[in-house]
Amino acid sequence: MYQGCQHRCGYCYATYEWSPAFYDKIYSKSNAPEILESQLNSWKSKVIEPVMISSATDAYQPAELKFELTRKCVRILQKYHIPYYVFTKSTLISRDIELHQQYKDNCFLVWSITTCNENIRRIVEPGTPPASAMFKVIKRFSDAGIRCAVNIDPIIPLITDSINDIDLILDNCLNSGVGYILGATLRLRADIWERMKSIFKMLNKEEEEEEEEARIEEYKRLYHFNEPLSHIYNLAVDNGYSNTILKNLKEGVIKRNMNFDFPYLIGSRRSIGIRKSNDDDSKQLSLMKFI
Ligand code: SF4
Repeated sequence: MYQGCQHRCGYCYATYEWSPAFYDKIYSKSNAPEILESQLNSWKSKVIEPVMISSATDAYQPAELKFELTRKCVRILQKYHIPYYVFTKSTLISRDIELHQQYKDNCFLVWSITTCNENIRRIVEPGTPPASAMFKVIKRFSDAGIRCAVNIDPIIPLITDSINDIDLILDNCLNSGVGYILGATLRLRADIWERMKSIFKMLNKEEEEEEEEARIEEYKRLYHFNEPLSHIYNLAVDNGYSNTILKNLKEGVIKRNMNFDFPYLIGSRRSIGIRKSNDDDSKQLSLMKFI
């Protein structure tokens, strides 16, 4: 629905060609609802797959308050009986609670929450609402019978990865009626690495400079790279580290009787597909022809 994102997450994966304009200049795909409807009208495939809303850039970022493109597209998906997932970091989605509630058997809402620590959130993702505000909204949605999940993604090494930090998120999930949890560790690219170093600087304002240097060295060790980090790399963190973090997360989820998974949404007889590797363009819904 939107190109660019006001949530300003330092680790954002959607910033392929990095420029601060990604956070500052938001382009709305103003004819997205019309394109969506015309594509659904001409849809021929029998493939039944749910739509993922916000796979890149948040469909409920502040611009949605003005343009209402997500709301209009959701209405169209519902009209054509298309199941959908929404991924968001927003509280603005509460504006559409009735809309999603009337479709609760065919939608699934996922909040990406990385930390309950406000000092860290203000630095790492300054345009997002505090986790406490998101959990209040999640509670309203789960009380309304809508399936809700939290995706702890990314888990950021040395910043949001402590057992205490993750337990705090899980306890809040439990108290908010969240049934499903998943998580993933941060991936590093050259542009993300540059922003991470700025984040280290801001986090270290009151610490010694050596502390910042130590974080940089630890990242090089965890992600197995030397500077400068090449633009062709998209690095996963060390397997041993990742396995330990995700194992702890899974145990914490199971201990609280939640699911370490997302439910599968079963589509309608005629649905639209998330592209599979051997699909041709006729099986891919696209909102790229926007104005
Ligand atoms: S909400 Fe998603 S798209 Fe927006 S800045 Fe954060 S990570 Fe990027």
